[in-house]
Amino acid sequence: MSADPAHDLSSQQSLTSRTSEVEVRRSARRRRTVSAYREGDRTVVLIPARMSVAEEQRWVTVMLEKLAAQESKRILGDDELSARAAQLSEQYLDARAEPDTVRWVTNQNSRWGSCTPSEGSIRLSHRLQGMPEYVIDYVLLHELAHLLVPGHGPSFWKLLESYPRTERARGYLEGVVAAGRLPELPTAREE
Ligand SMILES: [Zn+2]
Repeated sequence: MSADPAHDLSSQQSLTSRTSEVEVRRSARRRRTVSAYREGDRTVVLIPARMSVAEEQRWVTVMLEKLAAQESKRILGDDELSARAAQLSEQYLDARAEPDTVRWVTNQNSRWGSCTPSEGSIRLSHRLQGMPEYVIDYVLLHELAHLLVPGHGPSFWKLLESYPRTERARGYLEGVVAAGRLPELPTAREE
C-alpha cells in the first residue's frame, strides 16, 4: 500500500542527517492523534498505544518529514539570532558578553563564526543554517566567549565548560568538514 518507510528515510539525506535518534512513546490516552517534537537532537514521536508496528513506522516517517519541512522554513532571522546570543550569554557567561550586532553572513566559508571584539560584532556563516540548534548555539557561544577572551587558551575553554554540548557540537562540525573532504566514490572509469 505505502512505500517502505525505511527506504523512504534512507533516500532523504537531509532528513536522516538531522535525526540521530527517534524515541516513540505510546500513550493509552491518545486515540487517534500523532504528534512529534524535538528534544535536543532527539526526536520524540507520540502515538496511540494501540497502533500497530507497521502504522508506527509509517507515522514516524510522516512526522519526521513534517518536522524537517517546518524546520527548513524556520531559519532564525538576525533579530532572533541576537536574542539567542543574549540568552546564551546570560545562561553560560553570566551575561558578561554583550554583542552589539549578531548576524548571518554568506562570505565566510572557512570559518563557522567570527567576531570583532572592538566592534562587539559577531558573524555566523550561513552554512550553519539548517544544522541542529545545539550546534548553532555552540558556535554563537564560542564567539560570545571570544568577546571576553581572545585566542583558544585554557581560560577560553573554561568559559565554554558549562555548555553541556561543546564536545558534541565540535564533533558534529568536524564531521561536516571531514565529509566535505571525502573522495568521491569510485565509479567506472574510462582508461
Ligand atoms: Zn575561536
